[in-house]
This record gives sequence, structure tokens and C-alpha cells, in this order.
Amino acid sequence: MPRFKIDLNPLGHITVDAIGQPGKRVFYIQGWRETDLQPVTIIIEKIQLQSLALGMDQMLDELAKQKPELAVPAAEYEADKMRISPPVDPLFRAGEMGLGYDADHDMIVILVREVVMEGADPEQAAEVRFWCTRAQTRRLADWSREVIQRGRPLCPQCGQPMEPEGHFCPKKNGHKH
Ligand SMILES: [Zn+2]
Repeated sequence: MPRFKIDLNPLGHITVDAIGQPGKRVFYIQGWRETDLQPVTIIIEKIQLQSLALGMDQMLDELAKQKPELAVPAAEYEADKMRISPPVDPLFRAGEMGLGYDADHDMIVILVREVVMEGADPEQAAEVRFWCTRAQTRRLADWSREVIQRGRPLCPQCGQPMEPEGHFCPKKNGHKH
């Protein structure tokens, strides 16, 4: 048995965000119920966010093909409302993550399981499920891409994102600055 299980359904809000200096950012997924504003926050890796964003895009595309009768969800989000809300008090660090679709309720579920420490019983890993509408999923996928890109400062010379270890600027003939 998981040491605890949380089902956020119906979900009032879901978002992801990153805190910290470029290259050293810590990523989070956060949501709360419609009826209980206590945020549930989990630490995730950037790579997990990247694959989650990709998975959500693929799932929404697939659903649009399979069920063209379902309305296309609106994608606009307000960046201010998508920033992480305090308290940033993560329940755990994510291990396995999954994405599923509940056709009966037309809901997309993001499953996050606690990372299993060496020697710990994987059966006891805590689980959180975020039950999202397609519109919430669309917004989250679009916002996720912004969060992933946002960490890198833009080069004042060429306007392209700079890596923390340096940047080969086309405006400076590839010199590092
Ligand atoms: Zn540059």
C-alpha cells in the first residue's frame, strides 16, 4: 500500500513552475481541489516536465482526432495565475509519472508517484493524481513549454537563449561570451 494517496478531483487549479537560478532551477507541479485550496506541491525533474508536456500534447492531438465532436479546449492562460503559489512545501520528489485518459468522464489524469529511495519498498511510494479537464491540460501543456524555456536568459546581442555554461553568439561570429 502507498503510504498515502491523494486524488485531486475535481481539480480547481493545476500548474508547473521553476524556482532558482538558470541551470539550477527546481521544478514543481502544483494543484489543488475546487473545494479545498490547500496546494499539493511535488518536486519534478526538468526532463519529467519535458516528457509530461510532450505526452499532454500527443494525448490532446489524439483525442481531437478520435473525438472531433468534443469541443477544442481554449488554450489561453494568464501567466500571473500560473506562477507557483506559496507555501511551496513539496510533499515528495517525483519518481514515476504517468498520463491517462478516463473516457467515461472525459478527464485526463496525471499520476505522480514518489521516488523510491534505495532499500525502500516501492509498494509504499505515495501517489498523487491530478484529474484535469482537456482545457486544463491544454493550458498546462502550453505553460509548461514557457516554463521550460524561461530559465535561460536571452543574449543581449542576438536575442537567443544562453546556456549557463556560455553561449556561441552568431552576432559575434561564434565567440563565447
Ligand atoms: Zn548571442
